Amino acid sequence: MTTEPLSSLPSPVAHDDAHWMALALAEARLAAEAGEVPVGAVLVRDGRLIASGRNTPVAQHDPSAHAEINALRAGAAALGNYRLDGCELFVTLEPCAMCSGAMLHSRLARVVYGAADPKTGAAGSVLDLFAEPRLNHHTRVQGGVLAQECAGVLQAFFQQRRSAARAQAEPLRDDALRTPSERFDALLAYGFAPHYVQDLPSQHGWRMHYVDEGAGDDAACCICLHGPGEWGYFFRHLVGAPGLRTLVPDLIGFGKSDKPKRETPHRLEWHRDVLLEWLHRVRPGSTPMALVHSNAGSGLAALLMAAAPERFAAALAAPEGGERIGDAWRAPFPDRGYEAALRALGPIATSSGPSPEQARTFVLQVRNAMGYSNA
Ligand SMILES: [Zn+2]
Repeated sequence: MTTEPLSSLPSPVAHDDAHWMALALAEARLAAEAGEVPVGAVLVRDGRLIASGRNTPVAQHDPSAHAEINALRAGAAALGNYRLDGCELFVTLEPCAMCSGAMLHSRLARVVYGAADPKTGAAGSVLDLFAEPRLNHHTRVQGGVLAQECAGVLQAFFQQRRSAARAQAEPLRDDALRTPSERFDALLAYGFAPHYVQDLPSQHGWRMHYVDEGAGDDAACCICLHGPGEWGYFFRHLVGAPGLRTLVPDLIGFGKSDKPKRETPHRLEWHRDVLLEWLHRVRPGSTPMALVHSNAGSGLAALLMAAAPERFAAALAAPEGGERIGDAWRAPFPDRGYEAALRALGPIATSSGPSPEQARTFVLQVRNAMGYSNA
């Protein structure tokens, strides 16, 4: 290969590293749009763009189709030479061992990368192939150019992928509705972390919400069972009481759980089966718990007790009438489409839950009924 002295070439526009890295970033964004991990690269010689490349392993079914390899291949083809003397490669992420090896084989003059890769980086993070004098006589390395932007594209990609995976894991069935979470935002005293279960055999894919507080102190545990027309909000002043783990499910069709559009699933026996499978999941041990219920929930509580008497040490009706509930009973049901459970099992509740004072006394009662001392 003949080399011309630089002075005989038409003088190129001077570009700094950030300029080329911005072009590599544009390639990375194209990769993200195609569903590939967003890494991009450009090959430059004498201030001129020779080739560009981006990650394509998924599209090409090719584990070696990294951005750098694609750019090196395209560059070598464009130059008609597998040796890329005098070329610089700009890549948004620190190259891996494979790509670093290919760069050494191509006798690249310089590699410039954006973000460091603590997991697979072979230009200093995990190992440094370029610093190995037995391998490398040609390629200089520089990192950290537009590092934040380069890392940001990757972070955004993986974040989006995680939330997509979450949404996929909890899809809403076509024959159900999910109450918008804003409907619950204004409710007082119900800021408990939501928990969901969706894969129990009896559940048929309808997501069930529950509250689980006080798990760190599992000495005494109670399940709080609301009745038709109510939801877990009934028990809000019991939740988080010291010395008591409170499990508060919203029956499917109620509260923050999914709302099947048809009435047919809503038999109390079906709700009982879902609850038993759920209890087995959230509290697999054999220590009996207390079964706390509202007056409206007494029928379902009796079904549970009959089906699994060994699971419950006591059944107790929670005090009522201590505090007006009002709008909270309507919150789960934005319109009639959500109300199949009400049509099947009975109208929206008018009951009032225990007041904070009633709840305090009642918690002691629950612990007593299970043989725990309140000293
Ligand atoms: Zn690579």
